Amino acid sequence: MTTLEDLPLREDLRGRQPYGAPQLDAPVRLNTNENPHPPSPGLVADLTSAISEVAATLNRYPDREAAGLRADLAEYLFAATGVQLTISQVWAANGSNEVLSQLCQAFGGPGRTALGFEPSYSMHQLIASGANTAWVSAQRGEDFGLTAEAAEQAVREHEPAIVFLCSPNNPTGSALDARVVEAVLGVAPGVVVVDEAYAEFSTRPSALSLLAEHPRLVVTRTMSKAFAMAGTRVGYLAAAPAVVDAMRLVRLPYHLSALTQVAACTALAHASELLASVEAVKLERDRVAVTLGEIGLETVESDANFVLFGRFQDQAVAWKGLLDRGVLVRDVGLPGWLRVTAGLPSENDAFLAAIREIW
Ligand SMILES: *Cc1c(COP(=O)(O)O)cnc(C)c1O
Repeated sequence: MTTLEDLPLREDLRGRQPYGAPQLDAPVRLNTNENPHPPSPGLVADLTSAISEVAATLNRYPDREAAGLRADLAEYLFAATGVQLTISQVWAANGSNEVLSQLCQAFGGPGRTALGFEPSYSMHQLIASGANTAWVSAQRGEDFGLTAEAAEQAVREHEPAIVFLCSPNNPTGSALDARVVEAVLGVAPGVVVVDEAYAEFSTRPSALSLLAEHPRLVVTRTMSKAFAMAGTRVGYLAAAPAVVDAMRLVRLPYHLSALTQVAACTALAHASELLASVEAVKLERDRVAVTLGEIGLETVESDANFVLFGRFQDQAVAWKGLLDRGVLVRDVGLPGWLRVTAGLPSENDAFLAAIREIW
């Protein structure tokens, strides 16, 4: 039988493992930062009728420009942040991971580097590598923080084609001070990507407000987390129109299916309903963090929908102990630490009960 080793695989892909949290069928799944609230019956009904209308036209390719969806996203961002954007400044794809991939294809590539401040979202490195872009890992401080001075110095030293900032940061949960983003923008020779996948859970200002002055700033967002639409696979970016032009050079034609576009537009029409759970999730996040502290664990202050907690002698053993009690959390490979998503109150109770048993 032919194995991966026998294939004429790219040398830099040899020995690699595919990314992905284990999709285990645990009773309580708090490992991928999804919103625990399923779509309402009203939204399900609207999705069903919108999709059945589109179903009758599926012999045709979808709108290659996804113009309706991009207009709806611009409108949502204005409502959420007060930043006015035109459709020419917004781009959508199958999850923000695809957006990040298109960014790396357009602005990275052989001979270029991408820089991130770790620990952070490990997909940044993987997506960069997939596009044959060398990775430079700059480190966050002891407390997982990042100062404007440290960020500026790393960017000056490495002169990367792409800088990834993540705010709020996954897996630590902390949002960046606006001064960090501005400091990086001041010295970066290439594009600066601010991954705001968890922005709706944060009270910090969005980097969107910096777009008007910074043509090489890209803010990425997703409908997978706060929006409770992870299964739809829609992510997007806001940037200068020229950045959107660059995306058109690397995107596959008709990359967003007609089903995806209509599902996302329908969800956006229900934005206030979908986002109503955000406040409840934030309260649960804070309750989980406070209770973990009372039990005697350390936590990192979170502006997102998850909490990084520790410290364990061996986080893999703790992870297994929780799984044995029916609770799936995330081992992000950070020695001593685990990450738990804020779920429904009953799920968080189950998690906290399991923690008390293993701690
Ligand atoms: C979950 C997450 C994403 C989102 O991915 P999608 O492809 O939009 O589902 C992007 N960035 C970070 C930091 C994330 O945690």
